[in-house]
Amino acid sequence: MALKLPVYLDHHATTPVDDQVFAAMRPYFTEVFGNASSRSHACGWEAEEAVETARQEVARSLGAHPDEVVFTSGGTESNTLALRGVLSPRLGRHPAPHLVTIATEHSSVLANARALEAAGADLTVVPVGPDGRLDPDDVRAALTPRTVLVSVMTANNEIGTLAPIAEIGRITRAHGALFHTDATQALGALPVDVEAFQCDLLSLSAHKIYGPKGIGALYVRRNSPPLDLAPLMHGGGHEYGLRPGTLNVPGIVGLGKACTLATARRAIDVPHLRALRDLLLARLREGLGDVRVNGTLEARLAHNLNVTWDDLDGEALFLGLRDLAVSNGSACHSAHRQPSHVLRALGLSHAQAHASVRFGLGRSTSTAEIHYAADRVIATVTRLRAAVPSSS
Ligand code: PMP
Repeated sequence: MALKLPVYLDHHATTPVDDQVFAAMRPYFTEVFGNASSRSHACGWEAEEAVETARQEVARSLGAHPDEVVFTSGGTESNTLALRGVLSPRLGRHPAPHLVTIATEHSSVLANARALEAAGADLTVVPVGPDGRLDPDDVRAALTPRTVLVSVMTANNEIGTLAPIAEIGRITRAHGALFHTDATQALGALPVDVEAFQCDLLSLSAHKIYGPKGIGALYVRRNSPPLDLAPLMHGGGHEYGLRPGTLNVPGIVGLGKACTLATARRAIDVPHLRALRDLLLARLREGLGDVRVNGTLEARLAHNLNVTWDDLDGEALFLGLRDLAVSNGSACHSAHRQPSHVLRALGLSHAQAHASVRFGLGRSTSTAEIHYAADRVIATVTRLRAAVPSSS
């Protein structure tokens, strides 16, 4: 059977909406269109009921309480609310609040961290090793008496590396600071549990887990005393006053369903994806000899592979791979052709970063697609190598 081209291997950028998720959302665009805040009639009650059911689904998939789930527009907003929500009220005080994060975070964490630094916060960006791993002792060493928040992503969106989240959660809590983790790439790929993680804040996004774009959530621990989080916007007091605005009911229903499916399917999806990812790497090694893999293969998302060809020009490489939907860095960076800050943090040069390919496999990826992708990469790299005069 002919393959549909391009072969989509960019599931870290986004995923298709699952049929069951779409079916669950559909009535909330048309028949059940009420405003979930309309308290005076059945149209509002029905919408509100759907929102609360979805809130329970999201909470269940995180081991949280439903009233700890705040709906947002996605991972970027959740990360922004976590960082700014904690730091902003403390800016201008003496001593300045201190934020700790890591060099390979998503830009929505790093850019907010830099903006907060410009506004007076102290910032420590902890480096990772050349294999992308974070040493928890480096986080411990960065903590000061003024540290109010530590933000470390659960799983990296470019190289798939998994952070020792439970350990960082333990260190941070013992220190008395708050802990935020961006779990946008992690749900459905590994067990995500706010108690095991010992986190106070956790970000999610539906479109990375076969749900719709433009909807996500921030888990906010109901501490006692309550976590002092400032909203980004002011309005009608929705979402415990943390995120005003009429609720996106179909999106929220989709997020709830996507979370439930991601958790239920994990035991099937992960071994299947790992086998396909390992097949892809084995084929590339067999066809091209040694292949430089970015990031450790040990603590890594099963559906991620990120490789570099030191001797090739990135532009020529990607021209040859046009019938593969793959990324040469994070999708979030492709609007401006900056080399990936994640690959740079591992020590790669600009040229190496541009000649890197991220493969993100997904639920629908087939063995035939993996063979096709491997064939295309092997043929392209071999052709380009033949064209490049050897440096020796
Ligand atoms: N965090 C991570 C780790 C991501 O991969 C992404 C999406 N690239 C985001 C946050 C942002 O999510 P969203 O697209 O929902 O704003």
